[in-house]
Amino acid sequence: MIRCDKCNARAVIFQRYSGMHLCREHFDGDVQRKVREVLRKTGVFGKGVKLAVALEGEKSSSVMLYIIKRLFHNRRDIEMVALLVDEGISGYRPEALAHARSLAERLSVPHITRSFKEVYQITMDDLARDDRSKSPCPRCAQMRKDLLNSAALDLGADVLAVGNNLDREAQEIMIGFIRGDGNEILGLQPEPPQQKKIPLIKPLQRVPGREVALYAAAHGLSKHIPGGCPYLCDPLRTEVGKSLSKFEGKHPGTDYSLLRSKERIDRLKALI
Ligand code: SF4
Repeated sequence: MIRCDKCNARAVIFQRYSGMHLCREHFDGDVQRKVREVLRKTGVFGKGVKLAVALEGEKSSSVMLYIIKRLFHNRRDIEMVALLVDEGISGYRPEALAHARSLAERLSVPHITRSFKEVYQITMDDLARDDRSKSPCPRCAQMRKDLLNSAALDLGADVLAVGNNLDREAQEIMIGFIRGDGNEILGLQPEPPQQKKIPLIKPLQRVPGREVALYAAAHGLSKHIPGGCPYLCDPLRTEVGKSLSKFEGKHPGTDYSLLRSKERIDRLKALI
């Protein structure tokens, strides 16, 4: 039996990037510590705040809501609302939404759902049917982002939390460089005028996807949705994801290094 490096109990995970074996209790503590550190850095929880949490029903956002609720359940000055988006994808979204709603209710977090149909007068099923030549996935992602932003603002939220985990963050950073978004990344070019943006936080950005999955399984937050989204198609992200996971296998800590590089760039941007 492999033992926890902190307490000698049975280890449930080996973190190659830290060289630590951890038992269930210390693994839980480690995940929650990473989330706490990210939240502390945002500086928004020192006072009363209204927090909108984007909840999709998959593992990452479910774990995010669960941990935030656990961390703040005694804070009466922190108001939480789960924000659900119905893109109108038959055979996929209804089940994910049902899981998201049941989790929000289990945690006593109020929830609201906004749909593509009510906001854009079109569903993803309509979009996919109308334009068979293109993948609707990138368009859906942008519409979803815009909808979350405006819904959170309408709710009077101060901040919006999204469930990007470390794998996702590393992919975003790499894709930004591959696509040549250097100007935006380095802040060398002002962003074009656009709709008002709510401050975004990513509480799971330091938690690897594998650990999110383990945490979700351990706390009954996993819900397998057979088949996944039928319109999922982002070849660049898929390739970047595979390459990064190979790198991480050979050079543990690669994803953290990418995140640190981005954080350094952000600090430099703040000084410009
Ligand atoms: Fe939309 Fe793509 Fe997500 Fe499916 S995978 S819900 S198409 S963004």
